[in-house]
Amino acid sequence: MLIDNHGRTINYLRLAVTDRCNLRCNYCMPAQGIDFAKSEELLSISELKRVSELLVGQGIDKIRITGGEPFARKDLMELLAHLSQLKGLDDISVTTNASLIGPHIDGLKALGIKNINVSLDSIKRETFQRITRRDGFDTVHDNLVRLIAEGFNVRINFIVLEGQNEQDIIPVLEAMKHHRVSVRFLEEMPFNGGSRNFNKIKWDHVAILDHIGKAYPKYHKLESPKSSTSINYKIRGHMGTFGIIPSFSRTFCGSCNRLRITARGDVITCLYGRPVANLMDLLREGKHNDEMVRKTILEAISKRAKTGFEAQREHATTIFDRSMTSIGG
Ligand code: SAM
Repeated sequence: MLIDNHGRTINYLRLAVTDRCNLRCNYCMPAQGIDFAKSEELLSISELKRVSELLVGQGIDKIRITGGEPFARKDLMELLAHLSQLKGLDDISVTTNASLIGPHIDGLKALGIKNINVSLDSIKRETFQRITRRDGFDTVHDNLVRLIAEGFNVRINFIVLEGQNEQDIIPVLEAMKHHRVSVRFLEEMPFNGGSRNFNKIKWDHVAILDHIGKAYPKYHKLESPKSSTSINYKIRGHMGTFGIIPSFSRTFCGSCNRLRITARGDVITCLYGRPVANLMDLLREGKHNDEMVRKTILEAISKRAKTGFEAQREHATTIFDRSMTSIGG
């Protein structure tokens, strides 16, 4: 079992498989992108398999594959096939922008991977294009519809962006009214590759709930698992649910059960902290290093910040130059 220095059990790994993305969301990175890793600077599929195995051996029972855009990585399905056979791993999920997932939907089904988070910040083509700086709305929409129709557990992640997509908060809930989908609204965070720094947001979790409550007064709060980052609700007459994630307000740190490994092998114990170790060299030096990898993970979680605010204070001047695409959102 992995237990951190604050007594929290760490059982959830967010594993980034690439930092590359085919979209250029303006709240995530500058228009020209970031300094993306060269392919030899990324963990290879066999290294990703090995690190997953080692961590599952240490008590990780849930892995979310993220990036960058996971499906931009051509060999992703090989990793997923391996993970789906891993004893002790109960939950595999993928976070994706859904633009490249189409050809893999049948394969995911065959592997039994059903939990897909789709990042979608607008249901209007023009707004989507303005935010993502790309013209992929129709493909994303078609893939989303297909994932829902094929019975995947779909959650939509919608970042509420001042002056950009507020007008879509209610329409996205309306569009999903007749589907068993969870729409999760997230606060914007300043991990945008240095494009814009801020200490305050207009659309915090209180403002989002207030806005939704005005349109749908008949909603109620749902019970959520202790480690859930989202506060979840149901609107009367809607098949699905909605959730709000205070990702900038950070009200959920007390029950954090997560560990991140980036595509370059950095170990991150808090989204708002700097990497505390890197596994690349250890993994490349050979099999005999398994014990060292385990030890590095144990050490990393033995000095975790208690909250995202504490982690941020440790690196106050430099933390927000990073992009979520390199952290593994
Ligand atoms: N490409 C995949 C996707 O689009 O879901 C996975 C990687 S993406 C970095 C993961 C999540 O981070 C997405 O839901 C994205 O909207 C979110 N994200 C990126 N930058 C963010 C920011 N500055 N604030 C809040 N969420 C952000």
